[in-house]
Amino acid sequence: MYRSHNCGELRIADVGSEVTLSGWVQVSRDFGGLTFVDLRDRYGITQLVFNMDDNEELCSKARTLGREFVIKTVGKVRERSNKNPNRDTGDVEIEVSAMEILNASKVPPFTIEEDSDGGDELRMQYRYLDLRRGPLQRNIRFRSKLAIETRKYMDSQDFIEVETPFLIKSTPEGARDFVVPSRLNEGQFYALPQSPQTFKQILMVAGLDKYFQIVKCFRDEDLRADRQPEFTQIDCEMSYVTRDQILETFEGLTVHLFKELKGIDLGKFPHISYDEALERYGSDKPDLRFDMEFIYLNDDMKGHGFNIFDSAETVVGIVAEGTADEYSNKQMKELTEWVQRPQIGAKGLVYVKYQGDGSIKSTVGKFYSDDVLKALGEKIGAKAGDVLFILCGEEEKTRKQLNELRLEMGRRLGLMEEGDFKPLWVIDFPLLEWDEESERFHAMHHPFTSPKKEDVQRMLTGDHATMKALRADAYDLVINGSEIGGGSIRIHDRALQQKNFDLLGFTKEEAQAQFGFLMDAFEYGAPPHGGIAFGFDRLAAVMNGQSSIRDFIAFPKNNQGRDMMIDAPSPVDGEQLKELGISLNE
Ligand code: ASP
Repeated sequence: MYRSHNCGELRIADVGSEVTLSGWVQVSRDFGGLTFVDLRDRYGITQLVFNMDDNEELCSKARTLGREFVIKTVGKVRERSNKNPNRDTGDVEIEVSAMEILNASKVPPFTIEEDSDGGDELRMQYRYLDLRRGPLQRNIRFRSKLAIETRKYMDSQDFIEVETPFLIKSTPEGARDFVVPSRLNEGQFYALPQSPQTFKQILMVAGLDKYFQIVKCFRDEDLRADRQPEFTQIDCEMSYVTRDQILETFEGLTVHLFKELKGIDLGKFPHISYDEALERYGSDKPDLRFDMEFIYLNDDMKGHGFNIFDSAETVVGIVAEGTADEYSNKQMKELTEWVQRPQIGAKGLVYVKYQGDGSIKSTVGKFYSDDVLKALGEKIGAKAGDVLFILCGEEEKTRKQLNELRLEMGRRLGLMEEGDFKPLWVIDFPLLEWDEESERFHAMHHPFTSPKKEDVQRMLTGDHATMKALRADAYDLVINGSEIGGGSIRIHDRALQQKNFDLLGFTKEEAQAQFGFLMDAFEYGAPPHGGIAFGFDRLAAVMNGQSSIRDFIAFPKNNQGRDMMIDAPSPVDGEQLKELGISLNE
């Protein structure tokens, strides 16, 4: 027997019992006559004691233990004299009477403790060592529970879990496809799914009514900390539903997951239209943990002889509370440079400081008297101690820039509190986006999204300007400024789907070749349907207040899309390529 207990289990009530523990040596400390070893496994850490006076041979053997050696020990549980309140097992230790080394270990390339001294790449290369650390063990366990609770909820709502194929034909959802050559069909390729979108719609035509799947998706995109080339979605589709029924169902899922896994009651989620989100926060994924809503100042700031404002399309600001006296000229200058960085791209930053003593200080004081600025302060609710930050320029750009500043001030002022979760639904997205460069429409969500019912006729008959204004029953779930998922009511009619492909620049032949199967299926009694997908890795990270999804994926890829542990991608040999009918030198 390797163990009677695990390393996280023993308590004061166990004192006196004889136990067997197995695990990894986290650290070993030698104090002359006594050697202490921290023994670790998935469940925790237990302290072992070896006493030279009791057993010289055993204690000498303990002194040879290196970090990450795997051992089995037998001993008696006793009360510790100096207890460790930070550890569940911190009241007790094991007086070891026998030990067996089950396996030795090389010195690990980084420390395997709560915090590690290893860099990202090194930790990914030795992922099996990194995964031994507490934070990653907790994340992977959290993820497992998240999947189990998702299944429980979906089952309680009568959803059917269906696996859809990975070797498919490309579904254009905005990213590039990963392709897989077919040996049996030389010169032809499968694509890995960017999502099971078309299959889940076909399942609705097939009468499954409610489908879900926790499924891998593949997108060949440029990578960032919160993106991976393969990631997981909770993917769903429902028939005979309205938008609001879909939102209710997946709000229910989200509430269930937060309740079961975090003990948090999220309450009801507000609905904010896409237009309103942009107007109030300059973003379609606003962080609602703090207010700092946009204040439009055209009426107040134009016409005072300040040419930069007078000539701007939009003058818009935010009020940062309690920063007037705290922020020195130097900090204001630094913040101005911050918004001027190319990533943000503002030309400058105007501020009005409503100082604690009632005086006013502003970069545009020359053009606006104190009385004017005071009256403005009263109107917009800026109190003594607050700063009004103003940006101006072309509306869309300025809103984006002010969104960045709003988030930065939220961070600097500590307004994004850990453990605070503010979900919302962003609804009524535009159906199409006009791309100036390619002079083409793109689907804002994806090509299968339906216009709102009241826009269907306009879509079938309208002109170019009409198309730009079409709205879709498309929606996103946003939590704390992160997009957790999105979906839409779909087109279920051949003519409308054909029209959408036309608008997106597909010829009839291209649309037929790529999506004929779906449009054909629409001609055999396709029910009205809609659905949604949540980013599973992202949800796990956001629920834990973390921004990187990597730490919630057992084997993630680096920023170059490489698996550092198995060293993939890698070349394949000539024979294999020949079989596939691929020549690299052509
Ligand atoms: N397939 C979509 C996506 O991956 C989600 C949906 O529309 O259901 O974003």
